[in-house]
Amino acid sequence: MSESFLIRGARRAGGDAMDMIVRDGLVAETGSHLSASGATVVDADGLIALPGLVDLHTHLREPGYEASETILTGSRAAAAGGYTTVFAMPNTSPVADTAGVVEQELALGEAAGYVHVQPIGAVTIGQKGERLAELGAMAASRARVRVFSDDGFCVFDPLIMRRALEYVKSFDGVVAQHAQDPRLTEGAQMNEGTVSAELGLAGWPAVAEESIIARDVLLAEHVGSRLHVCHLSTAGSVDIIRWAKKRGVNVTAEVTPHHLLLSEELVRGYDARFKVNPPLRRDEDVLAVREGLADGTIDIVATDHAPHPAEAKTCEWAAAANGMVGLESALRVVQQAVVDTGMLSWDDVARVMSAAPARIGRLDDSGTPLEAGRPGSFTLYDPRPVRTFSAADLRGRSVNSPYLDRELPGEVRWTFFRGTATVADGHLLDTAGVRA
Ligand SMILES: [Zn+2]
Repeated sequence: MSESFLIRGARRAGGDAMDMIVRDGLVAETGSHLSASGATVVDADGLIALPGLVDLHTHLREPGYEASETILTGSRAAAAGGYTTVFAMPNTSPVADTAGVVEQELALGEAAGYVHVQPIGAVTIGQKGERLAELGAMAASRARVRVFSDDGFCVFDPLIMRRALEYVKSFDGVVAQHAQDPRLTEGAQMNEGTVSAELGLAGWPAVAEESIIARDVLLAEHVGSRLHVCHLSTAGSVDIIRWAKKRGVNVTAEVTPHHLLLSEELVRGYDARFKVNPPLRRDEDVLAVREGLADGTIDIVATDHAPHPAEAKTCEWAAAANGMVGLESALRVVQQAVVDTGMLSWDDVARVMSAAPARIGRLDDSGTPLEAGRPGSFTLYDPRPVRTFSAADLRGRSVNSPYLDRELPGEVRWTFFRGTATVADGHLLDTAGVRA
């Protein structure tokens, strides 16, 4: 018999305060003035109840790069950030391009027990862009893969991209493209523009992203398949997606929290924590991706949580790795960038950080609303405090966060995964319910 909870007075996104009883892994009842004998009572007055967050784009680094992160440590970072499902990108070692590797990742996620770890399969063998991986075998495996990506690399060959789009149709899969023309970005160190010219760093032009997105929406239209665009970062990319959706192309797009908040101006300090792929862009791009998210052109926020060991980030700019950790900070950054600025409601946040990513990844049991009979996976979030983000907020293995020493609003007070508390009153628990 698992522990049951009575949540008192949480404000449901888009609704009024309510009580909620959580029992046997499910939301058992919602309403007002509920009582439940023997239940642990959680005073949630002033807290917002959001369905458990779903991240369509996480790098968990296991197997192969356990010095940066493991499925266990990444799962803990996810729970601390209010997540209950993460999709794990396949750029591991070995690459997740077979049924064997994705089933291993699924099992490690189950053993960790903090969140549902849903493997993403590679599009091509070894992510080399040459031959299609065993997409059908991964789809039919116990991991039930529906999202395929060579993230970290672009599926650059248009014929391979076309074949992947055609193949995944048979099991309602989607190809998630990392849109980056490798020729146009050879040696690129930051966004191409006036700042890169001033700093003398090789530029990463917006067109390197936009030209691939334009090609791929046309390919997706041509073969009648589903395309997802990873970490869109430029105003022009938003325009292309807006055009494609108007045309009826079956395309979805994501933006990261850092592209919603941070701009290329930060590169001037040469702090490699701000080095990321795609790069931080201009202020007008930041505004355009916020507007694209607000008007529904961009469907979801995904973290692109990318842990790296200290030595990959404390070196000089040119030698540093691309990527930022983001699971623990995502909700707070989204609050600052688009909620506190009046562009998104909490109801919208529930959609772009939970319901929509689960739907794109075809997971029926994730991102579900807080209603009786649904999974007891949710987070209770306090939007009121404003605190300096610090290393103590990071619960994964790496500390390459761009937000350290920056003030961010909000705090995840509780996270529940299938009826079990993983974060209780602001403290991460181990899965036996003890403070971790
Ligand atoms: Zn990527």
